[in-house]
Amino acid sequence: MNAQAPGRDVERRPRVVIVGGGFAGANVSHALQKKYTLFDITLVSEESYSTFNPMLAEVVGATVFPEHVVAPLRETTRRAQFVMGTVGKIDFARKVLCCDTLKGEVEIAYDELVLAYGNRARVDLIPGMAEHAVVLKTVGDAMHIRNLVLRRLALIELETDPALRKCLGHFVVVGGGFSGVEVAGAIADSLREIRRYYPRVGADELKITILQNGDRLLPELPDCLGEAAKKSLQKRGVDVFTQMSAKSVSARSVQLGDGRTLDSCTTICTIGTMPNALTARLAGIPVERGRIVTQADLSVAGVDGVWAIGDCALVRNADGAFAPPTAQFAVAEAKHLARNLIARARGQAARPFAHTSRGMMATVGHLKGVAQIFGIRLAGLPAWMLWRAYYLSQMPTFGRKVRIFVEWTWGMFFPPDITHFRFTRSHELLRSDQAGTMPTNSN
Ligand SMILES: Cc1cc2nc3c(=O)[nH]c(=O)nc-3n(C[C@H](O)[C@H](O)[C@H](O)COP(=O)(O)OP(=O)(O)OC[C@H]3O[C@@H](n4cnc5c(N)ncnc54)[C@H](O)[C@@H]3O)c2cc1C
Repeated sequence: MNAQAPGRDVERRPRVVIVGGGFAGANVSHALQKKYTLFDITLVSEESYSTFNPMLAEVVGATVFPEHVVAPLRETTRRAQFVMGTVGKIDFARKVLCCDTLKGEVEIAYDELVLAYGNRARVDLIPGMAEHAVVLKTVGDAMHIRNLVLRRLALIELETDPALRKCLGHFVVVGGGFSGVEVAGAIADSLREIRRYYPRVGADELKITILQNGDRLLPELPDCLGEAAKKSLQKRGVDVFTQMSAKSVSARSVQLGDGRTLDSCTTICTIGTMPNALTARLAGIPVERGRIVTQADLSVAGVDGVWAIGDCALVRNADGAFAPPTAQFAVAEAKHLARNLIARARGQAARPFAHTSRGMMATVGHLKGVAQIFGIRLAGLPAWMLWRAYYLSQMPTFGRKVRIFVEWTWGMFFPPDITHFRFTRSHELLRSDQAGTMPTNSN
C-alpha cells in the first residue's frame, strides 16, 4: 500500500524534511527546489557538504585536493533551509525529528520526511582491523590515508632496519571491488610519482598488494573489464591475489586465509558496511538487512509521510531485484521520489520506482579506468575521461565546475602534491616546544 497524503492545512505548504545530504538527499532537495512554490524544504545533514565518494581514492592518491570531491550544501539549498546537525530521534506520531546542532538539540516538524542518511563503514570485520587497519568512507578517511602514505615514506627515509623498511613500504588493500581497485591504483601511481622527493627510498622497497576473496577483481563488471583492471594494476607493480581473504590484521602484518603472512605496516580495508545507528532507533518501521524496507513508490509502510532512499533503504526495483547501494541508484531514487512528492502535492498518485542501470565505471589509477556504459565496454584513458566527465557534470554550480576542471587539468600534467598537512595548532606547537618533541596529532 502506498503512503497516503496527510490531512493538511490548505494554506500551508507541506514541510518536506530531508535527512542526509549525500547523493540521495542532495538530489531530492535539488529536484524539489525547482518546484519551490509547492513545498517548505529543509535539508538536515551532519556535514555541511556532499561527498563524491567515488572520487575519494583520488584524494588518497593526491591527484585531487579534498575540496574537489565535496560540494557545499548551502550552495545548493538557496530555496531551502539547510541545518547542519545529526538526527538522533524521530517521533513518527508527532511528526517531529530531534536534531543535535551547533546550538544543541532542536526539533524540526515535517509533513513529508525523506530518510537518506546512508550507511557507515564497518571497522571490525576482521580481527585486528579496528586497531590496525584504516577504512575509506569519508573525506577525513581519505586525507588520513594520504597522510599515512606520506608518513610511511618519510619514516622509511629514516629507518635503518631493512626488514622494517620493507614492512613500512608495503601497502595491503583488502577488497577488490570498486573502492579497493581504485585505491590500489591511486596509491601505485602516487608512489611512482612522488618517490623522486624521497631519494633514500628505493623502488624495490615499495609494494602494493590487493586481496580479493572472489575469483576476480570488480565482480560487478563483465569478466573482460575485471581482467583489464587486473592487468593494468599488475603492469604498475601491484600484486593481485584473488581467491584470497585476510584472516587477521596486526600492526606489522596481515594473516592470509591460506596461512601465509604478509609483512605490512599499512592495511587499508575497503570491504564491509554497516547500518547507520539511527536505523536501530527508529521504532515501528520495517527493517531488513539493516536497511529500511520501502514500498514500490519509495514510501515506508506503517508510518505516514515517510520515505527512504539511497544506501539506508532497501528498495525493490521494477525488475524485482533489490537496488544496489550505488551512487547511480541513489540519484535515480532521489529523482523518482521528487516526482512522487510533487505528484502528491498536486493530489496525484505516487508511482512505483523503476530504473535501468546505465552501466558502471571505475578508475584504476591516474588516467586509467574501466567502464561499461549502455553495453559498451571501455578501458584505459577513454573510460577514465568518461568517469571524470560524469562526476564533473554532477558538481553543483557552473563556477565550481570550471574551477575544478582547471585544477584537474593542471593535475594531469604535474606531479601530485606531497604537502603533509598536519593541522598543527599553536597550542600544540607551544606544548611540543616545551617538551622538545615533535608536535603530535593523529595526522
Ligand atoms: C570509497 C567509496 C567509493 C565508492 N565508489 C562508487 C562508485 O564508483 N560508483 C558508485 O555508484 N557508487 C560508489 N560508492 C557508493 C556510493 O558512494 C553510495 O552508494 C552513495 O554515496 C549513497 O548515497 P546516499 O545519499 O544514500 O548516502 P551518502 O552519500 O553516504 O550520504 C549520507 C549522508 O547522510 C548524512 N548523515 C548520516 N547520518 C546522519 C544523521 N543521523 N543525521 C543527519 N545526517 C546524517 C551523512 O553525513 C551523509 O551526508 C562508493 C562509496 C565509497 C565509500
